[in-house]
Amino acid sequence: QPHLQLDRIHIAYDTPTGAQEVISGLSLALAKGQIGCLLGPSGCGKTTVLRAICGFEPLSGGAITLHGVTVSDARYSMPPEKRKVGVVFQDYALFPHLSVADNIGFGLRKLPRDARQARVQELLGLVGLPQAGGKYPHELSGGQQQRVALARALAPAPELLLLDEPFSNLDVDLRERLATEVRDIIKHAGATAILVTHDQFEAFAIADEIGVMSNGTIVQWDDPYNLYHQP
Ligand code: ADP
Ligand code: ADP
Repeated sequence: QPHLQLDRIHIAYDTPTGAQEVISGLSLALAKGQIGCLLGPSGCGKTTVLRAICGFEPLSGGAITLHGVTVSDARYSMPPEKRKVGVVFQDYALFPHLSVADNIGFGLRKLPRDARQARVQELLGLVGLPQAGGKYPHELSGGQQQRVALARALAPAPELLLLDEPFSNLDVDLRERLATEVRDIIKHAGATAILVTHDQFEAFAIADEIGVMSNGTIVQWDDPYNLYHQP
């Protein structure tokens, strides 16, 4: 059984001229521990799919299941905070007034203090910033901030990690290096993840499976090797 399954989902936006369908019968299945990528040009619907998986976008048809539980269909949408989905955004959006450690511990406020501190330290190590807990976001480089954002998303051990164009604000050299690092971090954490990007390089550097999107659906789903080597 797949860990994440999107079964022929449809999503429409209300516009002044009527409902506009932007996702049309899109399906995918991702096994636990795999990293999937939605690759496609701006406007093809990538962010809309992520928002639906988070629970911010109702479906007009189809269903989304996460570890066997239906989280969205045309009649029901489980609230976002109950889905155990962690998100990393394009613009990192760390809390500027909180230290790095408090940013990472933000989703762990229900844990006792010792357990929280231990988990934060574990994550700082995982993302290669063991000394950075006392710093503030503005003291870190863009790449370091993005690794902190990843640590924050992974801290509560989410069922699913979503990454929305996480490298697009970084310069090209850093982007390539960070993409490989982020893949290693996600694999170490044992997380299941979906990344969306318009950048082929990122998709190839990170993903186990790539879904090529066009006009609101996946037109091809394959591993990077097969996609690269096809005629
Ligand atoms: P991508 O992430 O691939 O750039 P999006 O999911 O953001 O694509 O957008 C898919 C399509 O839906 C685009 O044509 C976009 O203009 C449209 N769209 C996105 N959000 C809304 C909205 N809130 N209302 C109406 N149309 C929207
Ligand atoms: P874009 O900047 O790509 O057009 P949006 O501003 O529509 O995208 O949303 C950015 C991302 O943030 C989406 O993938 C959405 O799922 C996610 N998002 C929006 N609000 C929240 C929230 N309160 N908690 C977690 N994720 C959120």
